[in-house]
Amino acid sequence: MSGILQTVSCLDGYDPDALRADKATEAIRACLSPIGEAEKIPVRESLGRVLAEDIVPSINVPAHDNSAMDGYAVRFSDLQPEETVLTEAGSAFAGRVFEGAVGPGQCVRIMTGAVMPAGTDTVVIQEVVKKDGERIVVPPGQKARQNVRYAGEDLKAGVPVLRSGRALTPADLGLVASLGIGELKVVRKLRVAFFSTGDELASIGAPLKQGEVYDSNRYTLYGMLARLGVEIADLGVVRDDPAALESAFRKASSQSDAVITTGGVSVGEADFVKQLMGKLGEVLFWKIAMRPGRPMAFGRIGNSYLFGLPGNPVAVMVTFYQFVRDALLHLSGRTDDYAIPLLKVPAAVPLRKVAGRTEYQRGILFREGAQWKVRTTGQQGSGVLRSMSEANCFIVLEHERGRVEAGELVSVQLMDALR
Ligand code: AMP
Ligand code: MG
Repeated sequence: MSGILQTVSCLDGYDPDALRADKATEAIRACLSPIGEAEKIPVRESLGRVLAEDIVPSINVPAHDNSAMDGYAVRFSDLQPEETVLTEAGSAFAGRVFEGAVGPGQCVRIMTGAVMPAGTDTVVIQEVVKKDGERIVVPPGQKARQNVRYAGEDLKAGVPVLRSGRALTPADLGLVASLGIGELKVVRKLRVAFFSTGDELASIGAPLKQGEVYDSNRYTLYGMLARLGVEIADLGVVRDDPAALESAFRKASSQSDAVITTGGVSVGEADFVKQLMGKLGEVLFWKIAMRPGRPMAFGRIGNSYLFGLPGNPVAVMVTFYQFVRDALLHLSGRTDDYAIPLLKVPAAVPLRKVAGRTEYQRGILFREGAQWKVRTTGQQGSGVLRSMSEANCFIVLEHERGRVEAGELVSVQLMDALR
């Protein structure tokens, strides 16, 4: 593998001390190689997993032309411009085929899903016919081939329907089942380890000492990773101590495809972590032109990618959603489009913004009558985790943009889409 620094320094406009948010995504992407190993699993276990094969139907779905309605299967060529009187020759039920052919002047009572009897091509719904014993009176105005579902109209034999690299949805599971397939080849789950760093961190269960805070980052990280469907290893809290950090990095990188840490990358702390990481692998320290979440480390230790996130709780979540999520999905073998959609919505209030950095303000998308608008959750400090709980979207204010007036369109990313 060529060096990470070598790869990113070739990118246009790469500046580790003032990196645009979109450049950081590009730089990370340029360095990643997705995991390749796959496994075969039962269809029901494959929900959310990444497909590792193309699905090409070997049969048509439906397999036969069949009725879309309850009614009468007729020969369209029999129908007159006025009323037509036909003779009922039998019944066709779903799963029970009408044996024999239907001749001129005949029709067959048919149920939804029943195979079209030979000779028929059109279904007249039962509500419009008049029935008198075996005499069936069809009114005028029927259209050729109406109310028939054709063989292969859902899936055609030989035409690929699901491509390798997509995350499987509930509809996909049903679709695969409709082909009679019971097992799927999927990419193995990505293994992700994480730990928090900081001498001030207390773990749940221990009383808080003077100057300590409970470690919340490992819980938000756990939640975000669980939603991505990766295999998670929580390695706990590690003190700001070179020996403890070194052994944590070694352990994490030896057992996982990616390691996420929080804390220890801000200017005051970076030097010592930098030295340590330099010893273990290749790690770049970035100052990203964004808020929140300016400092971040990215690199490789052994066979594992490292994401060194800032310590502030909101910065952890923003950098995870904006950089780590994309990277982990890419590593997991996703090749479908999983970018978080950006929607344009008018701002309900003016928004403070400084040009020269991308801001990810926490927003609430709400309705005023029929019009959707967005406002912020209020206090935007990177330690105010409540702002993430209250928000239902990010308001993404672009790098060049300055202050926003009420009524101007802004980009929002729904947090629901982040799952
Ligand atoms: P750092 O990036 O290590 O300088 O930390 C920045 C701020 O985030 C400090 O106020 C830390 O106390 C806080 N912080 C760091 N790690 C955590 C954590 N795991 N849980 C909650 N707060 C944290
Ligand atoms: Mg710290």
